[in-house]
Amino acid sequence: MKLLRVIPQNMLEGKNVFVRVDFNVPLEDGSVKDDTRIRKSLPTIKYLMEKGAKITLASHLGRPKGKKKPELSLAPVAKRLGELLGREVQFVDDCVGDKVKGKVESLKNGEVLLLENLRFHEGEEKNDEEFAKKLAEPFDVYVNDAFGTAHRAHASTYGMVKYFNVKGAGFLLEKEVHVLSEILDAPSHPFIVILGGAKVKDKIGIIRNLLDKADTFIIGGGMAYTFLKAKGEEIGNSIFDDKHFETVNDFLSQHPEKFLLPVDHIVVKDFDSLDGLSEKEKIENGYIGVDIGKKTAKIFGDKILEGKTIFWNGPMGVFERDELSKGTFAVAKSVRDATKNAAHTVIGGGDTVSAIHAAGYKDEDFTHVSTGGGATLEFLAGIELPGIKALK
Ligand code: AMP
Repeated sequence: MKLLRVIPQNMLEGKNVFVRVDFNVPLEDGSVKDDTRIRKSLPTIKYLMEKGAKITLASHLGRPKGKKKPELSLAPVAKRLGELLGREVQFVDDCVGDKVKGKVESLKNGEVLLLENLRFHEGEEKNDEEFAKKLAEPFDVYVNDAFGTAHRAHASTYGMVKYFNVKGAGFLLEKEVHVLSEILDAPSHPFIVILGGAKVKDKIGIIRNLLDKADTFIIGGGMAYTFLKAKGEEIGNSIFDDKHFETVNDFLSQHPEKFLLPVDHIVVKDFDSLDGLSEKEKIENGYIGVDIGKKTAKIFGDKILEGKTIFWNGPMGVFERDELSKGTFAVAKSVRDATKNAAHTVIGGGDTVSAIHAAGYKDEDFTHVSTGGGATLEFLAGIELPGIKALK
């Protein structure tokens, strides 16, 4: 992968540089509710400004599915970015066509333009050839700084890249790849992988790829019930993944000593009403496991504190509900304490990042908070991400 810092200045100064960023931020009443993702792109944008590039930024926002949806416009992001940079960020209400070309051509060195939501065009997610070509047309240089979408072969992350001789990874993408490569290639031991959330499917790849490398897999959240069932435990009406049951069985039989599973649970009879909310070691018929119990939180916490490298993706329970957030918050605290004890801690996935913030922690309380969810999991599963492959 080429890096932005190795592109010579004479290939940036006065050149039209297309930068794929991840500005998929939450909006509320027409303004940006959380600008974390915008802030994370600032080093790349500022660097290009210093080098005298003419900078055009492009991103997706939400899931407009090829339709122009005013509530998913990136216009509020241009305003917020302008405030953060302390200078005007121009905006154009499309991402391809003559209007965009005109705007790009009128940029002066160091000026910044933001294009409208890429996914207002169907061609973006379909990686349509014509669309990719049109997107690339006005530009001399391609930079990708959107790690969160690097696992998608879309027009802006993959299809358009072949039209550029000069291309590179922005500083955010570079950092993500560096931190995650370190985990894959040379983790300090004990190396502990904490996985939770609802879906087993998304985490099969990472378990398989790290099965020999990691010392312990701590499994919580909804996905733990498929593991517990494989060990012959009763799981009541807890979520269960039939399709991946056999794979889970294989993992457990290959390395039974590596898997740490919940020993008690917060259970309910009904997700919505929380009827029957209680803490149980055995899940009876009619009950659903919705969070790890106190004993489990203690066992998980003790193990986490032994770790030298810790990766965490997925909440331990339905943490969006206050009553069911204690297990996830306890794990957040343990990972935070491990960081204080000099463990290398990496957190990935939108839900997990929301959970650490809801627990009162900041990104700086951990070694690295990844901007990727699916991208992080696929990277650690050993899959070459299309957005990275395209830069090679
Ligand atoms: P995932 O996308 O697979 O990481 O799943 C994240 C979601 O899993 C969150 O919205 C949680 O509310 C949900 N979740 C966590 N624990 C459970 C559980 N025991 N049962 C059902 N959903 C859960």
